[in-house]
This record gives sequence, C-alpha cells and structure tokens, in this order.
Amino acid sequence: MTTVEHDLRAYRLALDLTAEQTSAVRQHAGAARWAFNHALAAKLAALDARMSTIAAATAAGADPAAARASAPRIPTKPTIQKALNQIKGDDRTGVDGLCPWWNSVSTYTFQSAFADADQAWSNWMNSLTGKRAGRRVGRPRFKSKRRSRDSFRIHHDVKNPTIRPDTGYRRIIVPRLGSVRVHNSTKRLRRALDRGAVIQSVTISRAGHRWYAAVLVKAPRTAAAPTTRQRAAGRIGVDLGVHHLAALSDGTIIDNPRHHRHARARLTKAQRALARTQKGSNRRRRAAATVGRRHHELAERRATTTHTLTKQLTTRWATVAIEDLNVAGMTRSARGTIEAPGTNVAAKAGLNRAILDASFGELRRQLNYKTDWYGSTLAVCDRWAPTSQLCAECGERANLRLSQRTFRCPACTYGHETIVDRDVNAARNIAALAVAVAPGTEETQTARRAEPDPRPRGGNRSGPAVKREDRTLPGAATPVEQSTGHPKPADQRSLPLVS
Ligand SMILES: [Zn+2]
Repeated sequence: MTTVEHDLRAYRLALDLTAEQTSAVRQHAGAARWAFNHALAAKLAALDARMSTIAAATAAGADPAAARASAPRIPTKPTIQKALNQIKGDDRTGVDGLCPWWNSVSTYTFQSAFADADQAWSNWMNSLTGKRAGRRVGRPRFKSKRRSRDSFRIHHDVKNPTIRPDTGYRRIIVPRLGSVRVHNSTKRLRRALDRGAVIQSVTISRAGHRWYAAVLVKAPRTAAAPTTRQRAAGRIGVDLGVHHLAALSDGTIIDNPRHHRHARARLTKAQRALARTQKGSNRRRRAAATVGRRHHELAERRATTTHTLTKQLTTRWATVAIEDLNVAGMTRSARGTIEAPGTNVAAKAGLNRAILDASFGELRRQLNYKTDWYGSTLAVCDRWAPTSQLCAECGERANLRLSQRTFRCPACTYGHETIVDRDVNAARNIAALAVAVAPGTEETQTARRAEPDPRPRGGNRSGPAVKREDRTLPGAATPVEQSTGHPKPADQRSLPLVS
C-alpha cells in the first residue's frame, strides 16, 4: 500500500446570499457562539470542581499526585455533547430545555463549536505548561455578539457529499442553506475536485458587510518542479521594505501601495461619525457597520497586493530569498515598556503602522506555501546579517545612515557610475546570503517562535531602523533554526488560501 501525501487548502468564496439565506447564516453563527460558550462554561465549572476536590484531598493528607488522578476531569466534546443531548429540549415537540431550537441549525455547527472550545482549552493548557511555543495564550474567553466574529463550520459527510459546487461556476450547495450564489467563481475549486481533492468542511463567516465561505479541501500532493524558465531565472533576492513594498536583486522596485494611507481618511471619517452617535441608537448601529465595511475593504485590497506579489515571485524564479524578519518585534508597541521606554514614539508608531500595512508576516507565510506549490524554493537570510551595509559587488562595509536612499561603495565603483537604490543592494546581499529552507517549513524566527532579543536593553529596540544600523551581532553566519511540520488544520488562519 502506498501512502499518498495530502495538502490542505482553502478556497474562499464570496457569497451572494438571499434574504432567507442571510437570516439562516446569522442563526447558525449565533448557534455556534452559543455552543462554544456552553462548552467553555462546562469546562470552567469542571475546572473549579477539580481544583477544590484536589485542594480538599491534599488538605486531608492525600498524596497530591493521587488526588489529581482521582479528581474530576475537564469534559471534552463527546462528554459535553452527550450531556447536552439530555437537556437540550425540542421546540418541535414542545419539550423545554437549554436550546430547544437546535434542530433549526445544522448539527455540525454544535460539533465544530465544541471542537473549537477543546482546541482553545488545550492551547491555553499547553501554553501554561510550556508545551506550546510562541506567545502566551490566555484563558479562552466567552464569545459575545459584539466582539466575536460571526462564523460557523459545517463538516463534509464523505458518504453523503453535502457540500459541493452546483452546476456551473457560480453556485455552491451547502447543507441547510441550499444552493448559494457565489460572487466570484468556483472554477478553481472544481478543478481541484476533478484532480482528486476531497472537501473536508466549509467555514462560513462574515467580514464587514459580506459573508464568505472557506471551503477546505484535502488534495493529493503534487510534486512540483521548477520550470525551465524558473531554472533559467535562478535566484531572486527580495528586500521587503517600508519605503517600497519590495526591492528585488535584479533592480526592480515594487512600490508600496500604502492602501492604509489612502483608506485612512475614509476610515477616520467613518470612525468620527461613529463617535458622534449615541449608544444604542439606530444611527450608531449603521455607523458601526460603515466602520466595519471600511476596514474590510482595506483588508481585501491588501490581500490582493500580497497575493499578486507572492505569486509572481514564486512562479518566475527557482529560488526566492528573503530576510528573516522579526515581525513581532518590529510591530511591538513603539511606547516600549516601563524598563525600556521607547524613543521617538510618534515617528515609530508611523513606522509600525507602515510595517503592519505591508503585512510582512502574511507575505512570508504565502511565500512558504507558494514556493511549495510552484516548484520554487524559499531561502532565508539571517535577520542580523548587515545586508543593507555591505557592498553587493565587493563585500566592503559602508556605513549607511537610514536617510541615505542610495548605495555608494567606499571601496569599489559600485553605485558611482549608476545610482543604486539601497534596498536593491540589500536584496542582492540577501540573495547571496540566504540559506534554503525545507519545503513547507513553518516560519522560523518570526512571531511564532520569537527567540530572546540578543540586543542590549533600552534605547532603540523596535523597528528596522535598528536592524539596519551598523551592528555586528551574533549568529550572522549560522543557518536559521527551523521548526518542522505543516500548519494544523484546526487553525484556519494558517492554511494556504487559494485566491
Ligand atoms: Zn564595493
């Protein structure tokens, strides 16, 4: 028997819902929220009971390990579901209960909300015990209608394929909703299914004023190899910047669209209008919807830019070399901490915003999986390598100030006869210094696994301004540390998205 490797991919479809379907998806999202909160409350109550049982037993002289072993456990999905089935009631037969309306939504809504509660709980526990790397995960919070995202997930029944594209490219069939019109197209999804992909689930969520369906599929992995054209093009170095979106080692400069700056005025206007309204009024509700809509428009435009850039990079060259940016550190609050207050706060807040605007983290994530798809290789250069300070021709060190936008080598003629953009010079160094990472490798030293900051405390601690200054830092020659493994299916946001 041969094992076929699979990839999980999500196809995102914008939906054009009928009024009836809109009320159905709202109802499902509400049910998912209710079920999550129900499961979380059950877990928290069990935790209280468990703690007091252990405390009482150890106070009575029992062995702490034995007390823990015999104390009540935290219930998970099957237990919670079983218990709820006894008391949920049924409004069709007039039986009162906790959620007699359960039959009006898909049963998968409950199941996936319980699974999400399990995941949130174990993320918290693993973070407490240090099993989970990265940023601390706090105690799961109850979902509120105001704060939480409207979303629910329906799983695919393989024996009875309930989720499938309808005839043509413009409709998809979803249980309980029927045939839903799609605003974009199901073409890519259909092609994937024709190639043997199997639908796993559909997550329906609201962003701004629109509802989307993310169809998760499990597709047999195809070993992509670089094309002749990619091999001929070789390696491209990419310097992701604030001044430009990216500078390439072949001299191309891709301008930063700065969507945020353009959209900011509109957003600010909407936010001011919201601030002037009275709490609980109809005008406030409408104004809040407008703010949400402006945010959403911005996010959509930003996503398009990122997808276009990463697709071009990964399809045109055999190797894409980038710098390993510490996005978490770069976007850290400009105000700093009490021990190390930030300097030049206003300017850096602007810089941080620009960095967020360029969505570095997302760019890196996309390059990661798209290189895998299109047969190219991702190479990463240590983030402490002085890429902007070295001459790409002769390797001489030039002490460039951040304000100097062009590179001029003090030792050779590079940058003397022609104008060399400092970021293009950096991109050439990145291309030369980067080390290939294994396909599908998770982010290395970015937000997920931030290593302790080796720089001295105090002073300039945030922003690429520091990184680009003349500093010799440890580890410049060592290959980057890698964590392995594919994104977990539970984390929808970390899945490759086909768009
Ligand atoms: Zn030189």
